[in-house]
Amino acid sequence: MKSSSGGGRRRRVVLVPYPFQGHLTPMLQLGSILHEKGFSITVAHTEFNSPKPSNYPNFNFLALSDNVDGHDTSFHNLLNVMSAMNTNCEPSFQEHMVRMLDDDDDDVACVIYDNIMKFVDVVAKRLHLPTILLRTTSAAFMHSHLALFRLAAQNSIPLPESELEVPVPNVPPLRFKDLPLRATEEIPEAVEEFLQSYMNIRSSSAVIWNTVESLDEWPLQQLQQHWPLPFFTIGPFHKMSPPLPTSLMEEDTICLSWLDKRAPNSVIYVSLGSMAIIGEEELHELAWGLAKSEQPFLWVVRPSLLNGSDAMGSLPEGFKNLVGERGLIVKWAPQKKVLAHSAVGGFLSHCGWNSTLESLCEGVPMVCRPCFADQLVNARYLTHVWRVGVGLEKSVESAVSTLMSSDCGREMRERAVGMKLEIESAMKLGGSSSDSLDQLVKFIVSL
Ligand code: UDP
Repeated sequence: MKSSSGGGRRRRVVLVPYPFQGHLTPMLQLGSILHEKGFSITVAHTEFNSPKPSNYPNFNFLALSDNVDGHDTSFHNLLNVMSAMNTNCEPSFQEHMVRMLDDDDDDVACVIYDNIMKFVDVVAKRLHLPTILLRTTSAAFMHSHLALFRLAAQNSIPLPESELEVPVPNVPPLRFKDLPLRATEEIPEAVEEFLQSYMNIRSSSAVIWNTVESLDEWPLQQLQQHWPLPFFTIGPFHKMSPPLPTSLMEEDTICLSWLDKRAPNSVIYVSLGSMAIIGEEELHELAWGLAKSEQPFLWVVRPSLLNGSDAMGSLPEGFKNLVGERGLIVKWAPQKKVLAHSAVGGFLSHCGWNSTLESLCEGVPMVCRPCFADQLVNARYLTHVWRVGVGLEKSVESAVSTLMSSDCGREMRERAVGMKLEIESAMKLGGSSSDSLDQLVKFIVSL
């Protein structure tokens, strides 16, 4: 294999991540997978949420001047942040790439970029460099955009509120309420523009997916008809790559020794990922629901979880005393290790794609509390396709009890263990992810 140029010199792959946890993590993991396959890795990263180079001694790093310092980077302002990054990063990316291409000792094979960082395509085209897109969400989520565009083109949205529960034609198992945007509202122009760009493969030579073929088969087939270029389905990245410290926040590892003292499958792990924001009322509902469930719980209460104020300080009075040793609250957990711990029997999650994959890989069933974007589609798949998740329809207490201590929850756990085995076989020699990775390596070498 010409993985390191045959003559000892590795070919270089440049990675450009979108600098938020759920996107940065899979890009770094992909870098690690490709490094193991013989490529040199350069990460061109924004100054905002920059990865710590000392955590990745095998990678080179190049800083891009994003100038987003001082911007509001919370969820509601993301469109502005993305736009600023795309404008501001282009000149420094171009300078770095020109320098690399002028260096005879370097042999850049391609640039792999998160499709939000669209300036990469502009620069790469100018410099005649091949690009590959990385999709960090499921194919089902990407496919749901095609349905959304079709409905908008047919003037079928906005819909009345009463139709949100109705199935979207030809996109099983999604209902209108599972689409990436609220189908009861007009799509704002700026959002539509972003989504069109998000769904544009631009001049890319291929698409890499952090998914597993058997999880996402039908949407992958549908998308392949829409985008006729090579797809490489090589997930789950966190299992295909060597372990990598990718957290932007400091992990509180005390929770692992707390878990050591709990019975197998007894603990419900609760986390809404890195971006989701809830109000004080829901924070209190979660707290009292966990208290009433009488189940041991490990709860990530990230400082930015609460809209407007410190989440930890806003927990209801008396809650901590009431639950005592039965519950542990941390600001940020080593999630992959937590989910792999034998004491964890369920995951109450916002259903981000990384969290979903991490839970499925450990055979942990979920309580689904999606907040926005792909989380709605992932939750629908968890509850209605893979049937390893319960929705948070009634109350926190009843959903947690169903998952942790009913026959229905036990069946979900059995199915989740089955999915774990299915994912493991996809990663083994001859499995779909393993084969697709071999093909990706050959593809990059051929560029
Ligand atoms: N995560 C973590 N510790 C926590 C909460 C989350 O390490 O306390 C990690 C989690 O393992 C996952 C990522 O943060 O890899 C969250 O990504 P996801 O796609 O699930 O959601 P997002 O944060 O993008 O909404």
